Amino acid sequence: MKTATAVAEEPPSTTAGRRPQAVQVSGPDQPAIASHERPLPQPLRQRLVLSPRSAEFLHRYYPQATAGDWNDWRWQNRNRVRTLADLERMLELSPEERAAILRHNGPLPVGITPYYASLLDRHDAGQPLRRTVVPVLGEYERGRGENEDPLGEDTHSPVPGLVHRYPDRVLLLVTNFCSVYCRYCTRARMVGAAGERSVRKADIEAALDYIERTPAIRDVLISGGDPLSMDDDRLDYLLGRLRRMPHVEFLRIGSKQPVVQPMRVTAELTRMLKRYHPLWMSLHFTHPDELTPEVAEACGRLADAGVPLGSQTVLLKDVNDDLPTLTRLMQGLLRIRVKPYYLYQCDPISGSAHFRTPVAKGVELIRGLRGHTTGYAVPTFVVDAPAGGGKIPLAPDYVAGYDGADLLLNSYDGGTYRYPDPSRSLATGDAQ
Ligand code: SF4
Repeated sequence: MKTATAVAEEPPSTTAGRRPQAVQVSGPDQPAIASHERPLPQPLRQRLVLSPRSAEFLHRYYPQATAGDWNDWRWQNRNRVRTLADLERMLELSPEERAAILRHNGPLPVGITPYYASLLDRHDAGQPLRRTVVPVLGEYERGRGENEDPLGEDTHSPVPGLVHRYPDRVLLLVTNFCSVYCRYCTRARMVGAAGERSVRKADIEAALDYIERTPAIRDVLISGGDPLSMDDDRLDYLLGRLRRMPHVEFLRIGSKQPVVQPMRVTAELTRMLKRYHPLWMSLHFTHPDELTPEVAEACGRLADAGVPLGSQTVLLKDVNDDLPTLTRLMQGLLRIRVKPYYLYQCDPISGSAHFRTPVAKGVELIRGLRGHTTGYAVPTFVVDAPAGGGKIPLAPDYVAGYDGADLLLNSYDGGTYRYPDPSRSLATGDAQ
């Protein structure tokens, strides 16, 4: 996907009739920069990038909309691609895709922001990003060991919307809405269900009350659905309530919004988030094609607001399960100030067989990263154990055995090295 990082200073009021070019625009909720202000370094400017790719897509499929509309996250929500007719306007659907969309009934509907739709290949049904958001018939097949709630979240839920599996931390599910629905979603049983946004206020209050009266909880992960799909006021309220609980030391938000709707990361949002540190964010990335200028800017804004960013990536067959793709993604994440955190084995949700790789594949990919690139670029590969066993890390084995008191280690480049192991020396009486 061709993108550019060059920017021009003057925002267009509309793209209609104009040749697409890389521009920066003041979004609808971005303050104008006063003329007396000195120019700020690029990361500090509160403007939004519009890449040539986005501009061309906007011009082609939304000719009545302006660049300001495009960079308004609410406009992006209102104009999501949700129906067969929407999809057929933008993509040449394969018979299998069309049949899967017609058959769909229940949670995990189709939902794609115009921004994310601009990243999809119109002609190629096998394009990695397209496979993650456009359903295929494999979704309706139930394979061995697959079920609707593979992590057993519902059985660790003391009140609706709260998962309390570990003593000191909880998962708070605050919305069922995502602006883009991933076809491999672990919470496919609930996201997008019942008309979207269906978490009741009373349920959220009950969950907050539970956290308030449970002093052992020091860490709250806010997830959903996507918490950044909520408006600033609701998020502010939620974070404020949690911050006022003295035992809650650490807040985390899990989100894909900066990836599928980067214009959500407004100046107002980052100003508000700054008030609730320590606040960390886990961002859901899948493929290097997601690393656009817009996403780089959104992540830069969050990082500038002091929010440490980690990525979570699900390993998916024919999407990101080859070393060159995964290396590009992990290295690219570092460039946009996101630390690769977890690489997940795809959970055995119903209808996930066409996405799941052998577990050994993940270990092999980590072996291909470790030592061959920056250590910060290497995520931890984990299997989230079915039925609530938690994340279990799997790593390549570099131990070749012992020779006397020496530990023999295989290095990343195939060499074998000796390490004089102190505990072994003591055991063998091999004093040096
Ligand atoms: S963004 Fe997360 S919660 Fe939403 S559909 Fe994708 S995987 Fe599921």
